Amino acid sequence: MAQRYVRVQTLDGKIFYGLLQIDRRVQVLDAPPWMKGQLTDRVIDAESYQALAPCAPSKIVAVGKNYANHAAEMGTPVPQEPLLFLKPPTTVIAMEAEVVYPSESQQVDYEGELALVIGDRCSHCTPEEAHSKIWGYTIANDVTARDLQRKDGQWTRAKGFDTFCPLGPWVVREINPGARLQTFLNDQPVQSAAISEMVFPPDVLVSYISRVMTLLPGDVVLTGTPAGVGAIGVGDRVRIEIEGIGYLENSVIARTVAPQESQT
Ligand code: MG
Repeated sequence: MAQRYVRVQTLDGKIFYGLLQIDRRVQVLDAPPWMKGQLTDRVIDAESYQALAPCAPSKIVAVGKNYANHAAEMGTPVPQEPLLFLKPPTTVIAMEAEVVYPSESQQVDYEGELALVIGDRCSHCTPEEAHSKIWGYTIANDVTARDLQRKDGQWTRAKGFDTFCPLGPWVVREINPGARLQTFLNDQPVQSAAISEMVFPPDVLVSYISRVMTLLPGDVVLTGTPAGVGAIGVGDRVRIEIEGIGYLENSVIARTVAPQESQT
């Protein structure tokens, strides 16, 4: 099995990067693995930590309509060059954390995606250079308020709600170029594609993005979703599997109003 790189928080609130063992204990690294973190002697027992998203990106750069069959279901052509947008880092949640359904939207969709984790500062890279800047791979759900995406004309609000980027559960170094991505909504299969069906492959995406903005270690690139996107509701469970990585599962809850917000 591939090495699984995780990020965890111990009961006293400290955050560590580490290697997940078969018995779910975590062997601690002294820095993020993409910052040349080395294994230490410290091992954290499975009962003594909470799993976090596997990295803490300064930004999440996402790509729209990067599978031809998804562009078609949206009723739009495949873009001539990658279509970029940003998700704020505050959208990120871990495996098993809950997506909060915003009261502003009547249609929130799941989007299962392969996520790239950048390992090295990357500016104006060629695709060949970009390939070596991709440290590893994980799974993401690019949760989208579809009605607000249509209404606003640009995507900041639709893609940017807190909890709208489930990410994880861990990072692996390698992925088979033909690996299959599958999404299940309440155990029903809804998306299935090979990641090789992407219009612009990972090295081309990273190169393209790096000519616009410098990618930093730990940054995340979302590579787009295949056909089969659909709506989620409160109580639903979304599970995204990518062959060679594992699966990411999250459920959806209603937004509860905090006491200070309910004051009039
Ligand atoms: Mg997407």
